Amino acid sequence: MRIFLFLLCFFSLTPVFADNVILMIGDGMGKNHISCTAKTHPLFLARNKPVGEIQTYSANNDITDSAAGATAYACGIKTNNKFLGITPQKEACKTLAETSLEQGYTTLIRTTDILTGATPSAFYAHIDSRYKTKEIEQMLAKAQEKMSIKSVQYIDKEAKEILSTLSTSTTPFFMMIEESEIDKQSHNNNYQKMQEALIRFDKAVQTAVNFANKRKDTTVIIVADHETGGLTNSCQFTKDNHTGENVYYYVFGQHKNLFTEPVLQNTDIHHKIKEILFK
Ligand SMILES: [Zn+2]
Repeated sequence: MRIFLFLLCFFSLTPVFADNVILMIGDGMGKNHISCTAKTHPLFLARNKPVGEIQTYSANNDITDSAAGATAYACGIKTNNKFLGITPQKEACKTLAETSLEQGYTTLIRTTDILTGATPSAFYAHIDSRYKTKEIEQMLAKAQEKMSIKSVQYIDKEAKEILSTLSTSTTPFFMMIEESEIDKQSHNNNYQKMQEALIRFDKAVQTAVNFANKRKDTTVIIVADHETGGLTNSCQFTKDNHTGENVYYYVFGQHKNLFTEPVLQNTDIHHKIKEILFK
């Protein structure tokens, strides 16, 4: 059996254990953010059915912030708001990015936020407040010795560039891509700018899905950490903060059949990614 497996690995054109995951987080991207934007702009996400919905609440609040929201995806645990990469009992948890590194995979984080922002830092930092910027900066510097972590202005442009680079690599990779402006502009109740950010994110999604469709080793998972702005069916903002509304999740590519549930916890996404990457 062992010899058979060895031969299978050796002779297979695509290495047996090489699976890539692209986790895409539309920060603050609620269900109505997508359907409202789709009323005036053709969206890839609106043309495709979500697999289901995600419940986003954190360990200590019905309404999560981006720190606990991203930690759920990064570590597979519900933690307290403001906490990054730690349990409610303040123990460090291992993030997908850290496990990816341990496995020798290429590990990448791309965000339109600053690198110490809550969503990107939940993948490399372990601290009890997203606002302890000095400490997070030190953790960032250490993480950057091994991971590729970059802040970019336009996520659609960056998705094209980085995936074109990765298309020639034979090392498996894990990449987290975040569009932070959907959240920020929803806090501002700036409908126009929210749409512009969502359209750029949608283009990045399409690029990632095209990449996955050309190969047999890549799974693309699109989620949000929470809804922001209480956007209604009639496309009006009703709040300037996050809500506890469920968000959509979409999956494309190689292992999309692992995702079938109409309702998942945000932490379930983590465990499924682990199953794909580190089986
Ligand atoms: Zn926010």
